[in-house]
Amino acid sequence: MKRDYYEVLSISKSASADEIKKAYRKVAMQYHPDRNAGDKAAEEKFKEAAEAYEVLSDADKRSKYDRFGHAGLGNNGRGFGNMNTEDIFSQFGDIFGDDIFGSFFGGGSRSSGRRSQGVRGSNLRVKIKLNFEEIANGATKTIKVKKYVSCNTCSGTGAKDKGGVQTCSTCGGSGQVRKVTNTFLGQMQTVTTCPACNGQGTTITSKCTSCRGEGRVYGEETVNIDIPAGVQEGMQLSMSGKGNAGERGGAPGDLIILIEEENHQYLQRDGLNVVFDLHVSFIDVVFGTQVEVPTIDGKAKIKIPAGTQSGKIFRLKGKGFPAINSYEKGDQLIHVNVWTPQNINAEEKAVLEKLQDSPNFKPQPVKGEKSFFERVKEMFG
Ligand code: ZN
Repeated sequence: MKRDYYEVLSISKSASADEIKKAYRKVAMQYHPDRNAGDKAAEEKFKEAAEAYEVLSDADKRSKYDRFGHAGLGNNGRGFGNMNTEDIFSQFGDIFGDDIFGSFFGGGSRSSGRRSQGVRGSNLRVKIKLNFEEIANGATKTIKVKKYVSCNTCSGTGAKDKGGVQTCSTCGGSGQVRKVTNTFLGQMQTVTTCPACNGQGTTITSKCTSCRGEGRVYGEETVNIDIPAGVQEGMQLSMSGKGNAGERGGAPGDLIILIEEENHQYLQRDGLNVVFDLHVSFIDVVFGTQVEVPTIDGKAKIKIPAGTQSGKIFRLKGKGFPAINSYEKGDQLIHVNVWTPQNINAEEKAVLEKLQDSPNFKPQPVKGEKSFFERVKEMFG
């Protein structure tokens, strides 16, 4: 069970934004990993506090939490309760000033070795339209993506040649600069990202002419996308590293693939099941017949026994969609509709009039058939 966020920070439900911030500082300082090395319980408390602060410091999330509790926050976006230490430290920037923990606690969890290479590329989104057959069987799609690709001339560094890169003179190559600031804890030395080189530790003195120093150019890449069987409209797949190339050798972004379903000419999807409306003539159901029905992959023959009633549902087991990453499979449901003629000629009319009073043509309850009421209850609970 998750603890109440207000309880975690020891504040009242009516706490102001300022009080929340203060309370969080206090708890975070107390349980900070650098002060409680190896203490699992402290680490949990530290994470718990960060999560509580993340929610309560955001007006929208806080109001959802106030109304619906933990359930109101759902699983959207980054998963709650799964914040990693990086997330938590990135939060500190807002309330403690940049990187203050790094220096205050002796350069613990994040100040060292964080010099990043280049700037990460952004994610790209593409839509992929799939027909029923592709959804049922999975598909490989080859698409051309227009995007930033790494510059071939400079291999993504952005520099004209090896001599074109120099150690940054502002930070001496560390990517960080130290400065003294006044904070709520008194005067402190803080470490911030070097403004001259953006934390890269190097500057470019002569730029690559192909990409003008960016390390990437606008181009195109052919990407093969493997789509697993069982995807659905609105699902998103992500291909790591297939988005825009980063600047100056930075990691590429991801390619996000949004799935769209193409409508089928005859079939409709209902969850994992596929539904088909079959129209048959009155004569055919009286005599019984065999009909061909479309399925996701090809056609299937089904037998309509003599005396079949309108509204009957036949089931083709396993002819529906598979569930993604599972062995479960839906069925095809065939709904029988008996066609009533809307135009008849005099001759036909005479024939039917002869039959009109026959007791065989009088509707009566069908033995063993479920009533409409029962079927509706089955379908909708
Ligand atoms: Zn270049």
